[in-house]
Amino acid sequence: MKPRVTIISLTSCSGCISTLISLDIFPQFLERTRIIFFQFILDAKNIEDTDIAIVEGCVSEETQITLLRDVRKHAKKVYALGTCASCGGILSLSSSKVADPISNYIETNGIIPGCPPPSKLFGNSLIRLVENKDIILSQKNMCGNCSLKRDMKINSHINIYKIIPNPEEITLDEENSECFLKNGILCLGPITRDGCEYKCIKMGLPCEGCMGPVSKDFTSNLINYLSLINLSQELKEYAGIFYRYSKPKFRR
Ligand code: SF4
Ligand code: SF4
Repeated sequence: MKPRVTIISLTSCSGCISTLISLDIFPQFLERTRIIFFQFILDAKNIEDTDIAIVEGCVSEETQITLLRDVRKHAKKVYALGTCASCGGILSLSSSKVADPISNYIETNGIIPGCPPPSKLFGNSLIRLVENKDIILSQKNMCGNCSLKRDMKINSHINIYKIIPNPEEITLDEENSECFLKNGILCLGPITRDGCEYKCIKMGLPCEGCMGPVSKDFTSNLINYLSLINLSQELKEYAGIFYRYSKPKFRR
C-alpha cells in the first residue's frame, strides 16, 4: 500500500517546497505515495491520519503550534524539512519575530537539512521515507571532503576579517583556490554538517552554515573553533554571524 503523506508549510520562504516540486524524482514520489494534505496542490482542509508528515518552515505564531500538534497526533512519522523547520533558520535573525524549530514543540523522527536542502540529499531522503527507511545524514563536518582542505591550517591563530571574498578574488578554479581561512575569510565549514556537495565553495564562496550544525554540541564546537581563530573587532560585533541558521535551537 502506498504511504499516506502530509506536507505542510509554516513560516517560510517556500524555498524548500519549491525545491521539492522541481526535484527530478518528484513525479516518482507522487506515484509512490498518496498525498493527502499539501496546500500547494490540494484543497484538503483537515489534517488526517498519515504515515509521513513533512513540515517546512519555523514556528513563529501560536496557531502554528496547534497545527503542528495536530499533525503530530495524526502522523506515524514527522520530518523537519529545511533549516527553518529543523533549526529555526534565517528568520531567527529577526529581533521582532520568534523563529523556533518544530522540535521545540513536537517530537520529530528526522530532518532533511539545508536552505533549501541540496537536491541529491533531498531526493535520496524522500525515496528512503517512501521505503520506510530512516534518513541518512553525514556525521562529519564540511572540511573532511572539501577540495580546499589541503591548505587548511587551524593549528595556530588565524586572523579572520572578512565574511566573503572581494569580487575580484572569487575564483571557480578549485585547483588554484585556497582554504578561505588562509585568506582571512570566515568559513563555517568546520562547524557545519557535510552533505551540500560544496555548492558555495565550488562557486568561490565560503560555507555560511546552511546545513546546520553537525552535532548537538554546536556551542562547544563553536567555542573550540573560536579559540582557534582571531576574529576582527568588526566581525565580533556582527552578532548573527555564527547563528544565521540555527540560533533558536541553541538559545534555550
Ligand atoms: S530552509 Fe531556507 S529555503 Fe527552506 S523555507 Fe527556510 S529559508 Fe526558505
Ligand atoms: S574551512 Fe571551509 S574552505 Fe577550508 S577546508 Fe573547511 S570547508 Fe573547505
